[in-house]
Amino acid sequence: MSVTDAGDGADLIVINGRVLTMDGDNPAAEAVAVKDGAIIAIGSRTSIEVLKGPDTEVIDAHGGSVIPGFIEAHMHLFSGAAELAHLQLAGVHGFEALKKAIRDYAAAHPDARMLVGQSVDYTVLDDERVTRHHLDAILPDRPFVMAAPDHHTMWANTKALELAGILKGRMLGPGNEIVMGDDGLAAGELREGEAFGPVLDLAGEGRVRLGLATGGEPDPMPSAAERAADRDIMRRGLAWCARHGITSIQNMDGNLYQLELLAEIEAEEGLPCRVQIPFHYKNFMTLDMLDKASVMAERYDSEWLSSGMVKVFYDGVLDSWTAVMVEPYADRPDWVGEPLFTPRQFIDLAVAIDRRGLQIAVHSIGDGAVRAVLDGYEAAQKANGKRDSRHRVEHIEVTTPSDVPRFAELGVIASMQPPHPPGAMDFPLEPTVSRIGQARWPLSYAWRTLKDAGAHVVFASDWPVSPIDPILGIQAAVLRKPWAESDPDQSFSLHEAIAAYTVEGAYAEFAEHRKGMLKSGYMADLVVLSADIEKTAPADLHKVRPVTTICGGKVTYQAR
Ligand SMILES: [Zn+2]
Repeated sequence: MSVTDAGDGADLIVINGRVLTMDGDNPAAEAVAVKDGAIIAIGSRTSIEVLKGPDTEVIDAHGGSVIPGFIEAHMHLFSGAAELAHLQLAGVHGFEALKKAIRDYAAAHPDARMLVGQSVDYTVLDDERVTRHHLDAILPDRPFVMAAPDHHTMWANTKALELAGILKGRMLGPGNEIVMGDDGLAAGELREGEAFGPVLDLAGEGRVRLGLATGGEPDPMPSAAERAADRDIMRRGLAWCARHGITSIQNMDGNLYQLELLAEIEAEEGLPCRVQIPFHYKNFMTLDMLDKASVMAERYDSEWLSSGMVKVFYDGVLDSWTAVMVEPYADRPDWVGEPLFTPRQFIDLAVAIDRRGLQIAVHSIGDGAVRAVLDGYEAAQKANGKRDSRHRVEHIEVTTPSDVPRFAELGVIASMQPPHPPGAMDFPLEPTVSRIGQARWPLSYAWRTLKDAGAHVVFASDWPVSPIDPILGIQAAVLRKPWAESDPDQSFSLHEAIAAYTVEGAYAEFAEHRKGMLKSGYMADLVVLSADIEKTAPADLHKVRPVTTICGGKVTYQAR
């Protein structure tokens, strides 16, 4: 134990805990002391209690684990936050239950311009496909739309389709579809963002999706009242993170507007979580537009609010065959997907971003996308020289034996999501596992293989695609089962899974010397859990709940 200047006592001490520091040199302790936003001591209860002054706040962990605050390495704060106010349809099954949920929500929101539901199962009506007629029978006179958990499909009623101007269909880019009925009108099912964007815009939440949709800024600039409403949405999202034990967020969409809103909240009352917001580079942009990424990085560079990253999408998702594969899809033998950039374009982009000293994070789900992105990182290293760049590949749902060692060779971070493998949490096995095809199963969602090959593996939820709860992710990583007996075991130990949500998250943002562990001198970002997580059976991990979240030495969430 070391004590750095306790002065007239610590600001806060946590006692009676099973402190899991994630620091190999000092793995376990009973108590932690905090002052001026930093950890000043870790050790036995008696060694910490001497630091208690007259004004010291004392938190009794009651024997629960005390761990570093979770670092959420891939999420979408603004849109996730907006969705918290929508109708939540997870677990709703059958027409009658759907009817009751929608009508109750509509009655409680008489002034909403557009009623939006989230997380409705694809099989909510069993084998019957949802159409606008089902939704009209529930709600004929007000516009309503609801989204599948994966956010790639929505279903709208006639009123919503009419108001959005898409009842008669519309030409859309590849991969997007307004499903048409036999009557020549939209059937209600809307596939991918271009199809459901016009409906969602009617909800008055267009600004919330800008960072994801275009990476651009609101135009016209929002009024003072709109800004205030948007800050409230952000506040809701930040509070949701704090209640799940999260103290740092690496956001995966963004624009200057999001940074401004967060800076305004920071000035008003302080932020409950540290947030990194990237510049989102889209394939219709030109390389000179990276100037904005550099501006964002210069303007926001504090421990609480930062940028310094460029987010890119290289491909889509397996479920709509838009992920880019090396070999054709198992259930579509003539198709390998279509990249959002050519390999040449991506190389030029990676070289240009890397030259600015910025970090790159690229959504790459198929093995073809993963390979092209690694090629881009390799080209950047050759062009600009090798540096500690920590570029990232997001998702890596499928990869190949020849690309596995390249992560460690190039110093590239594998950013993966334990809730995403089919069968792990909310996503069903089919059609995804048949689409991947058995030959590719051994290197699908291959956390263990990548880690064993020396890669830094960082975990996250991709909220709101999956529930934000890091403990659910830890459980999914620990309980991960192969799809076939002959496939390698990709599961993580409890300690490895916690590290992927703490230590590795800190590494991903070049902050491993300041956070991700409980250590004297580190930021006072920690979470007290309801039980001893190391003594909890893997199947019961989800019952372990954050009780107190502390960020920068301040309590940001306290369970009642
Ligand atoms: Zn994402």
